[in-house]
Amino acid sequence: MLLRMSSLFLRTLRDDPADAEVPSHRLLVRAGYIRRAAPGGFTWLPLGYRVFRNVERVVREEMDRMGAQEVHFPALLPREPYEATGRWTEYGDNVFRLTDRRGADHLLGPTHEEMFTLLVKDLYSSYKDLPLSLYQIQTKYRDEARPRAGLLRGREFTMKDSYSFDVDDAGLDRSYAQHREAYVRIFDRLGLDYVIVSAMSGAMGGSKSEEFLHPTPIGEDTFVRSPGGYAANVEAVTTVVPDAVPLDGLPEAHVEDTPDTPTIETLVAVAQQLFPDAGYTARDTLKNVVVTLVRPDGTREPLVVGLPGDREVDAKRLEAQVAPAEVQPFTEFDQHPLLVKGYLGPQILGSGSKTGIRYLVDPRVVEGTRWITGANEPGKHVFNLVAGRDFGWDGVIEAAEVLPGDPAPDGSGPLELARGVEIGHIFQLGRKYAEALGLQVLDESGRLVTVTMGSYGVGVSRAVAAIAESTHDELGLCWPREVAPADVHVVATGKDPAIFTAAEELVAELVDGWGLTVLFDDRPKVSPGVKFKDAELLGVPTILTVGRGLADGVVELRDRASGERTDVPVSGARDAVLAAVRGGSQPATETGAPGAELAWSPTPGA
Ligand code: ATP
Ligand code: MG
Repeated sequence: MLLRMSSLFLRTLRDDPADAEVPSHRLLVRAGYIRRAAPGGFTWLPLGYRVFRNVERVVREEMDRMGAQEVHFPALLPREPYEATGRWTEYGDNVFRLTDRRGADHLLGPTHEEMFTLLVKDLYSSYKDLPLSLYQIQTKYRDEARPRAGLLRGREFTMKDSYSFDVDDAGLDRSYAQHREAYVRIFDRLGLDYVIVSAMSGAMGGSKSEEFLHPTPIGEDTFVRSPGGYAANVEAVTTVVPDAVPLDGLPEAHVEDTPDTPTIETLVAVAQQLFPDAGYTARDTLKNVVVTLVRPDGTREPLVVGLPGDREVDAKRLEAQVAPAEVQPFTEFDQHPLLVKGYLGPQILGSGSKTGIRYLVDPRVVEGTRWITGANEPGKHVFNLVAGRDFGWDGVIEAAEVLPGDPAPDGSGPLELARGVEIGHIFQLGRKYAEALGLQVLDESGRLVTVTMGSYGVGVSRAVAAIAESTHDELGLCWPREVAPADVHVVATGKDPAIFTAAEELVAELVDGWGLTVLFDDRPKVSPGVKFKDAELLGVPTILTVGRGLADGVVELRDRASGERTDVPVSGARDAVLAAVRGGSQPATETGAPGAELAWSPTPGA
């Protein structure tokens, strides 16, 4: 494949696009790989689409290799299956809904569990048909609250989604393990760094779940790691629970005047003044945070979360716990006169209490722990309020922020926090979807059993951005060979027509004789400086310059990533390019009959 820059549909830009927040977005737009078409929607231009298809190819090859079979669903889907599983409502504002001319409701698929379940139900009826893994690479639609960072969070994006079907749990474990291995191979081949973290199965139901996170400071996901190898996304981290303390002999609670202490800081200062010997810190206070839960059906419920005052509520952790309900700030203090803002205490909280408002506590609030907390009167706090003696709760919730240094739940050491982008997700759905949609098969003894499922996603378009993000340098993009839009970027530059002739000949041999994809800067009357800048920005891994050196019989080979330049004799240029493309250092020894069998693979689709 020959891509001539003189006619390629490409405009590189000198300036960063105004709306681009992250380097990958800036560079992909500046290098003419993508253009924004809609909020959270992008058009692939020729070079970008080549990278995209390379990523897609890697994903497809590895899915095929693990034995999954490719199908393709429509994106426009009927409401009924999603109604049957409850997700029509649960998805809330995140799904695009539309109505056809007959008044029938549809949605644009945000993910396809329901459809795959029904497809298998349609055609299969026996345990002998299983295990089965199906996948598709398809456009997904989600009305994301905040589309951002270009391809990283779109409203229309490409996902590889696959689904496994098994008769029993052991089968599901195997299918899950196979997907995990395939994902490892995919991301290794894409050159994308990843951490596999435990995740919550959350709103999807099911049990085991892991995410492949690409560590990057621009990521929206926070994850934790311990020196002993524990890794989890922050939503899945569980708190190490302290031992309960016997209630016998604990001091009585007492109310104190603590005027003007609506915050933890002011409260701790006053507590220290009142009781200088007690050594009180924020950790001795119990903070009660009121929020409003909004269910998918629109109903609202106030909820109070009690947690040690040295920690904030982590919105993502809280949301993961209450999903599919959403969390909104609580504003209705006027309708709940018993709730005294800034001086709220648990004595009036919980089902069966004066307010009846549901009260959930942090796992550190165990029986016998003593707290300084609101006395439910302005300017007053209560001291030594004992959990399990002076107040109770409706349940425990993992909603407090995780702090660096917190212990890993498996005892493997202190946690460190880092940020990442989710590039893949695997999880065991179990029987939730099969049950809701009636996917059953006959087992060996002729009994009907409900199938157990897994669901597995790779963000294909997101991966393009993640690769760009992790490989770019100050000069521009810098693609790994597996996904690069071309094998080599040949730059012809100079006034002498012999240069262009020599470059044309070399390019023809590389393309026609060796099946390479060559991006050829054959633009006449464009200055060398502009051509080199473009080559750096576009990021093809090998740059071959045919220029002034030709008079002395040499061309220049440059490795885009390392910047290393070598002069090679014109007669050896072809072999030098082939060696670079092949990734080895030794020159190719084949005599190069045009159309010769290749012992290695150039960019597919050439
Ligand atoms: P996130 O937490 O980043 O919103 P998710 O958990 O909602 O992702 P899944 O439903 O697990 O995503 O989708 C599978 C994969 O699809 C993700 O791992 C991610 O790589 C990709 N993906 C999800 N949402 C988007 C999006 N808005 N734009 C691009 N890729 C996405
Ligand atoms: Mg996910």
